[in-house]
Amino acid sequence: MAWVCVKKAGFAVALGALVLPLPACVTEQALSPRTELTGALPQQPAPVRRARASTKEWSGEDGASGSPEMTADAIRRSAANFRSCVASMAPEAARRGVSRANFDRLTANLEPDLKIMDFMDSQPEFTKSVWDYLDVLVNDTRLAKGREVLAKYKPQFDAVERAYGVDRYIIASIWGIESNYSTRGGDRSVLNSTATLACIGRRQKYFRGEFLAAVEILNRGDLTPDEMVGSWAGAFGPTQFMPTVYKRFAVDFDGDGRRDAVNNVADLIASTANKLKTDGWQPGQGWGYEVAVPRSFDYMMADPSKTLTVAQWERLGVRRANGQAFPRPGDHAFLLMPAGAQGPGFLMLPNFRAILRYNPAESYALAIGHLADRLRGGGPFVQSWPRSERVLSRAERRELQQLLAQRGFYRGEPDGQLGGETRKALRSFQASIGTPADGFASSDALGRLRTR
Ligand code: CA
Repeated sequence: MAWVCVKKAGFAVALGALVLPLPACVTEQALSPRTELTGALPQQPAPVRRARASTKEWSGEDGASGSPEMTADAIRRSAANFRSCVASMAPEAARRGVSRANFDRLTANLEPDLKIMDFMDSQPEFTKSVWDYLDVLVNDTRLAKGREVLAKYKPQFDAVERAYGVDRYIIASIWGIESNYSTRGGDRSVLNSTATLACIGRRQKYFRGEFLAAVEILNRGDLTPDEMVGSWAGAFGPTQFMPTVYKRFAVDFDGDGRRDAVNNVADLIASTANKLKTDGWQPGQGWGYEVAVPRSFDYMMADPSKTLTVAQWERLGVRRANGQAFPRPGDHAFLLMPAGAQGPGFLMLPNFRAILRYNPAESYALAIGHLADRLRGGGPFVQSWPRSERVLSRAERRELQQLLAQRGFYRGEPDGQLGGETRKALRSFQASIGTPADGFASSDALGRLRTR
């Protein structure tokens, strides 16, 4: 999905309790059905009709980030210099074993895709709540498709589970959420997108690495340029690897000499397992537990930096929401309360951090874990979300940060992105006025800040 690439590309990650930073990407993903897949993968969707202008033509406007490299003039200047910029990367490609002839052949038809500049600098006013996000990602259609995929490719999942020790349901969940089982994933040439981003805009240094990795993958013969299509930010394939991630983690599991994690299911599943294993996946363990906390709970403890054993959490009154006992009291876990005191809590095990290495958004990792559990046969979460809570607009989130700063609780830039610093500041404010310090940016919290 395009939003995955947004974070992988190192753009703002405003995670956390309340909002998701991803709607621009979700929009692009929704607009860009994957149409290039062939072979053994599941059925293709009907192409979604869309206005050509919305995905191909640049607005011609300055970017919303205010970066000097994102002004319309700077973008035009860089675009005029595109050919020589691409050529200037040939020596580095040569150091990576790509001959000049191959480099020239691969890059001959590249053109700057300036629409990407609009995507890169869009700042959506509204974001989704964590419960709306989970509703979108974990639903009956995706579950049905996931079960189908698990049955159809059982031999491949069996073999990969044996080789890597990574839970098949997590892999199936990532595949489902990243590309809806290979039916969506973007339709832009990865080489063209990363070349554009390497030569134009505010993330050129990062994208030079992605472009060069894409060149290496194609030069090696793992994929053809036609197979390497994806989101505007360069993530591609059923599990939306960035080129550097693909280069590092893709494996040739079926032994045909190509690392084809796009069209070959054995390679795809094994490559995803390889990444999770490298990122610390513990065989035989889950990602975490839905939990309930006691009424008088100290919410300052609900912080990824505060790791206790499950037994210690139990002594603080934390219980599994389904009433069952924790199987391994010695496991280390942190407590996440994505909707503050009004919603469910989750004790997160080391495997949750392995999923976060895939994508550092807590809500994303929670959706991956939950879909995996549902695929395994588990039920929905037991506790309810505060669905009547309104999600703050970008302007309101910025105001919340400004008010926290005025009161001495927040030192960051008021950017409307609610990350860990904002949560910490909000907690301190809540503690100072004697309300539960859960750091949840509700409209009530904003109201209290306005009147103090
Ligand atoms: Ca292969």
